[in-house]
Amino acid sequence: MFGPKFQRKYALSDKGVHNIKQGMVWTIITNLVVMCGTGILYITMDHFMRLLLGESTVYHPWLIILSIVIFLILSYLTHYKQYLSTYSLVYEEVESTRLNLAERLRKLPLGYFGKRDIADMIETLMGDVSRMEHVWSHVLGYLYGAYVSTAIVAICLCIYDWRLALACLWPIPVAFGLLFGSRRFNTNNAIKTKKAALVVSDGIQEALENIKEIRANNLQQRYLDQLNAKIDQHEKIMAVGEISTGIFVNAASVIMRLGVATTILIGANLILSGQIDFMLFFLFLLVITRIYAPFDQSLALIAEMFISQVSADRIMEINEMPIASGCEIFKPHGHDIVFDHVHFAYGHQEVLTDVSFVAKQGQITALVGPSGSGKSTCARLAARLWDVQQGKITEGGVDISTIDPEVLLTDYSMVFQDVVLFDDTIMENIRLGKRGASDAQVLAAAKAANCDEFVNKLPNGYATPIGENGARLSGGERQRISIARALLKDAPIVLLDEATASLDVENETKVQNAISCLLEGKTVLVIAHRMRTIAAADHIVVLEKGRVVEQGSPDALMARNGMYRRMVELQNENGHWKLNEA
Ligand code: ADP
Repeated sequence: MFGPKFQRKYALSDKGVHNIKQGMVWTIITNLVVMCGTGILYITMDHFMRLLLGESTVYHPWLIILSIVIFLILSYLTHYKQYLSTYSLVYEEVESTRLNLAERLRKLPLGYFGKRDIADMIETLMGDVSRMEHVWSHVLGYLYGAYVSTAIVAICLCIYDWRLALACLWPIPVAFGLLFGSRRFNTNNAIKTKKAALVVSDGIQEALENIKEIRANNLQQRYLDQLNAKIDQHEKIMAVGEISTGIFVNAASVIMRLGVATTILIGANLILSGQIDFMLFFLFLLVITRIYAPFDQSLALIAEMFISQVSADRIMEINEMPIASGCEIFKPHGHDIVFDHVHFAYGHQEVLTDVSFVAKQGQITALVGPSGSGKSTCARLAARLWDVQQGKITEGGVDISTIDPEVLLTDYSMVFQDVVLFDDTIMENIRLGKRGASDAQVLAAAKAANCDEFVNKLPNGYATPIGENGARLSGGERQRISIARALLKDAPIVLLDEATASLDVENETKVQNAISCLLEGKTVLVIAHRMRTIAAADHIVVLEKGRVVEQGSPDALMARNGMYRRMVELQNENGHWKLNEA
């Protein structure tokens, strides 16, 4: 019952399953204790009835008082234990599920992030886990506990009188049958609602991310209208889902109540025909006030359990996604990077075809080619941010796809176009390059990357917070911070993707000098659109439509009169542009 299928279905950890079992056991005990209360009430009533009728009593009054006291203490203790095992332990499960998901996301291949966007993943981490929290705490333990305790009570009732037992128990399977019959319908509604909710959060995220462009192009009204339409659609789908769930849950609840009527009808008949005495009938009347209670609580929650299947599936999709892994011991012979007949596709679109080149240690290898020719993709593959589909890439003779990505990345310093900064001070953003670096080391790297100039103008210098993703900095400033990080890391391989693209000529020269210090003796792979940035390269690989069309030294390529020469000449011509005179 609590095997791997159950665990997967409710997205539970091993510990979570253990906690649910514990919660279920305490629910069974609590329900049975509550039923014992009904028994004590029956005995007390029996005692007083006999006193009233002048008959001799079976139980001593002190025995009754003692059993009431014991019942109250047990009731308190079992409810307390049930609360602890169903609620408190679930909070631990929520915490560990979120941490596991975050850790898993950190290790997933980047290709995965192309399939699911950020709003979608945040929804899984926050919304889906919260929905499961409710199911773990309010449904599973209660429901499975109620099944078992009701089965035990049902057997006892059958021993007393099977006809009355049937009269009061029949609504339970019928009500549950109705709810389980509506399962597929409810789950489909839940999937539609989830999709519509994601469309809304995507819309909001897109609007926030592009707020500058929206304002600059006066698109506010258009965006608001689009968002309104998405919200309306979500509302409609949600209303349909809630109404249909409500109909099934209420119908089940009404059926459950019918048990009272049938018990009274059949009980009255049996008394009239002299087949049972009044006290037995009274006992069943007491029982039906309690027997539906555990299910009453869970009826509405069962519908939630069906709906939660969508959330559980989304959590499990991340949990079951294979993560990039590999050997943690990495001993390359030198740091030459070799692309050996590499093929790569994002999804079905092949962007690199049979790419082979060597980026030698101690040399600068430049990747050039038109936009979209696959230069950045090569840089990402070199650092195993994605895995190649055919061929292989080696560092120092070792196939990088066999190495744990985290271990491999310790060998790489990267400066990419899209600099990622954190909402922290400049000092801490640079320190990310090397965990545990001293302030003096950070400041030296910052100075070398020419950060001093703009940082000294800030109110708190290097202690100034830079806002979310460096919102308070210009493109050039962000890039210099990222270069400082790479300088601090001082890894044997350096990947520079348009590293100086956002800088003006004066700053570019300064940063180029800083980068030159960083590059000595290292394997350097540079991507640059500006030809003068790569003038110092030792080896140039020219890419076009994902294929290597030329490679060699800059002089050799100039002499070849091919694509490289055309690109250099084209850029030189563009360098002399002027305004047309009217
Ligand atoms: P370059 O750096 O030469 O401009 P890229 O390597 O960035 O070229 O891109 C090569 C091709 O791959 C382009 O057609 C681009 O649209 C596509 N591409 C780049 N990144 C992704 C991605 N994350 N998902 C899907 N396609 C991508």
